Amino acid sequence: MESRSRLSIICSHLLPQSPSPTSRFSSSLTSSASINDAAGDTRNHQLDCVFCRIVRGESPAFKLYEDETCLCILDTSPVSPGHSLIIPKSHFSCLEATPPSVVAAMCSKVPSIGNAIMKANGSDSFNLLVNNGAAAGQVIFHVSNSKVVSMEK
Ligand SMILES: [Zn+2]
Repeated sequence: MESRSRLSIICSHLLPQSPSPTSRFSSSLTSSASINDAAGDTRNHQLDCVFCRIVRGESPAFKLYEDETCLCILDTSPVSPGHSLIIPKSHFSCLEATPPSVVAAMCSKVPSIGNAIMKANGSDSFNLLVNNGAAAGQVIFHVSNSKVVSMEK
């Protein structure tokens, strides 16, 4: 099946949703989503984006890993010890807007960072989470879709 046909089928299943899943969230969250969903002016989003400020060194963060493409930082509101975020150094609002090479670079770091966190925490498991879009719980619209949450033994 041609990929365009698959996409049409997927869209036909997803678009009739009603009411909007974003209605479950606060107005500030949905307004952020609509601002970030607007095509074009990503420059203002980059200036306001907390992850972009961290990448530029304008906001503090505890860095676990850094290379030319991505950065791994500890979450400031951790779900569990070692909860960290892998973010691209360039601003992409969502996973669909992120080039596959960047997604691959982010995902390729998960095993080594996950192992390091597990070793540091003395745990043997972690979750890899992706909150992509307001209805999925994304609150910072700079793709941070690799969250590594270490779980206690
Ligand atoms: Zn950003």
